[in-house]
Amino acid sequence: MGPHVSEEEIKNVEKKVEEAGLTTNVSRGVERTIIGAIGDERQVQKEAIEALPGVEDVIRVVKPYKIVAREWHEADTVVDIAGVPLGGNTIQIIGGPCSVETQEQMDSAADGVAAAGCRLMRGGAFKPRTSPYSFQGKGVEGLDIFKGAADKHKLPIVTELMDVRALDSFLERGVDVIQIGTRNMQNFDLLKEVGKIHVPVILKRGLSATISEWLMSAEYIAAGGNHNIILCERGVRSFETAYRNMLDVTAIPVLKKETHLPVIVDPSHAGGKAWMVPTLSKAAIAAGADGLLVEMHPKPCDAWCDADQALSPEDLKTLMGELKAVANAVGRDI
Ligand code: PEP
Ligand code: MN
Repeated sequence: MGPHVSEEEIKNVEKKVEEAGLTTNVSRGVERTIIGAIGDERQVQKEAIEALPGVEDVIRVVKPYKIVAREWHEADTVVDIAGVPLGGNTIQIIGGPCSVETQEQMDSAADGVAAAGCRLMRGGAFKPRTSPYSFQGKGVEGLDIFKGAADKHKLPIVTELMDVRALDSFLERGVDVIQIGTRNMQNFDLLKEVGKIHVPVILKRGLSATISEWLMSAEYIAAGGNHNIILCERGVRSFETAYRNMLDVTAIPVLKKETHLPVIVDPSHAGGKAWMVPTLSKAAIAAGADGLLVEMHPKPCDAWCDADQALSPEDLKTLMGELKAVANAVGRDI
């Protein structure tokens, strides 16, 4: 509180803090009066105190998220995806096309994913497209096509959920990992719903979300009881136009410090061009990522979505070999 604060103004703040079930400690200095709030400060509405007369600033000293914070859970979380561990010493590369197109396309994509040595497969049946006139995904039929292709190689599947109304179809078909896409990172109702189940969730970073906002979204899922959460950095909006998004490599060590949740990186949607994918993948693993989400299409130039950023099956296999050396250099394996 400022220099000319009255006793009544101090009392008002104390009252507000105490109403929330906390106790106070008043420290009167020459220029400032500091009122310490003792207890669970998450119960205090910051804005309600800021609005009181005489209050200059309200500073939180504990993080707004708790379950996902490293502070409360020191050990790294390892998410078990149908027997495949994500978050441990072994780095997992999730490969597959941007979208599910046909059975033939998914069958050969699954062959390519398995041949490259990946243990998990991606593919979107529900696609969040910028234009309403672009291909929107095969929907539920796409889930069946995907499952059929992946099952032949016993590959667990990762696919995006955009709408709560499709959740039952995901559960009935045994989707192994639900992806919450960038555009839905703050769709709080969707987060609450996937928080009620125990299927692992990949939570992608919002287009311009801060790390704190992202972790708060993860906390929504965790607060419901689902702690099987994997964070995915996929590049953020920047002023640069030479690539699709700016891969925030710096976020990886910051997340590793702030949270015990596994962190993966999507180099495909970051760079937006296939030629950038190997370099960004190596940077991600060197920086401590626990895995990658990489787009691969059996025939990249025929892809119905994101053709220019898809690796070929051969490119993916080559990349897997190169990544092994990087993983080993940071004391891990692939
Ligand atoms: C995707 O992975 O298919 C996708 C749409 O990515 P993002 O949500 O990161 O844009
Ligand atoms: Mn894509």
